Amino acid sequence: MYFEQFSLDRRVLAGVQTVGYSTPTPIQQEAIPAVLAGRDVLGIAQTGTGKTAAFMLPILDRLVKEPARHVRALVLAPTRELAEQIHQATAELGRHTPVRSVSIYGGVSKQPQIAALRRGAEIVVACPGRLLDHADAGSIDLSRVEVLVLDEADRMCDMGFLPDIRRIIRRLPTNRQSMFFAATMPADIRSLATQILRDPVTVQIGTMTPVESVSHALYPVPDHLKRDLLVAMLRRTATGRVLVFTRTKHRARSLALFLKKRQGGRVAVLQGNMSQSQRQHAIDGFRSGTVDVLVATDVAARGIDVSDISHVINYDMPDTVDAYTHRIGRTGRAHQSGEAFTLAVQGDILMVREIEKAVGKPIERRRVPDFEYGDFSPEDQFPLWGQS
Ligand code: AMP
Repeated sequence: MYFEQFSLDRRVLAGVQTVGYSTPTPIQQEAIPAVLAGRDVLGIAQTGTGKTAAFMLPILDRLVKEPARHVRALVLAPTRELAEQIHQATAELGRHTPVRSVSIYGGVSKQPQIAALRRGAEIVVACPGRLLDHADAGSIDLSRVEVLVLDEADRMCDMGFLPDIRRIIRRLPTNRQSMFFAATMPADIRSLATQILRDPVTVQIGTMTPVESVSHALYPVPDHLKRDLLVAMLRRTATGRVLVFTRTKHRARSLALFLKKRQGGRVAVLQGNMSQSQRQHAIDGFRSGTVDVLVATDVAARGIDVSDISHVINYDMPDTVDAYTHRIGRTGRAHQSGEAFTLAVQGDILMVREIEKAVGKPIERRRVPDFEYGDFSPEDQFPLWGQS
């Protein structure tokens, strides 16, 4: 299948060519015709499936056909990184159209955002809190929005944005097209979707299990040897970009410092207490290749749009299977493959079982050859199902 087979405006197709996509991903194949037909869409898909273009190409197609300089499409996203990433993707895909996009998020000055809104933009990509600030101050008019997209709606709810989302929706015309994307569909998210969407087409990409192009491995380790094992893993692995997850901001910071000492300067940290420019600096370094190990927390990593992450390493076990899925969704994106390594200490056994259930098979246990485990025997830990 080719993008030319959708009846997209030629200026929108030119954007697809510029970014270099040749064939639509599965979610694009399913969602684009539905959105072009004006339908509401419930998309159950994680990041890395190509969902941004799945909703943005038909939006651009709609907007380019009847130019008008007011806000006509609103995309809500949980983090500034994700908002910025969607805004950038929109700018690239819409490069051959006169359609303009503005990104709106907190942590930076309002003035440039107000100025951009005054110049006129048809698409606004926003985090809920700052958008409401603008709406309350009268610097944005949401009364003529035709299309609403909630991206990573499950994450937005996790982050406590639900009341803000409801307030925003009350300001929008009821007669509009809505799209709702989430990687997971717990009951509260499903009920929000039902309230927002009208007779939606459901697009589900894969089951809600981790990406299949990723291979998984478990590295049992005693707690006090975690750091050394990670260093040994990084040394042995012919890696490109490595994203390392920790449980807390504090652990991210101290692990990054430790790795910097051991690995040199090519390590950066990404966690919620950093300023927007510090975060952008870390992400830019990772993207451009001056940084090859990025240590991040779950929330901070949400918006990273770096397509060829070769390895995700769970230095700390994620708290939920969904978090595991989100983390490793960072590798093996689009059409590439990747590896997900998880360090597991004794207390992690239940979570290992949960993840294996979701993946549908046991995760391979590995030891790092030549690593000094002391009395600890990785092979004796975490027996496979049926052997315990
Ligand atoms: P997303 O799920 O929207 O974050 O997209 C994940 C990555 O896949 C991004 O880096 C996109 O640029 C890339 N991508 C999206 N659609 C395609 C496509 N049809 N072909 C190749 N890469 C794509």
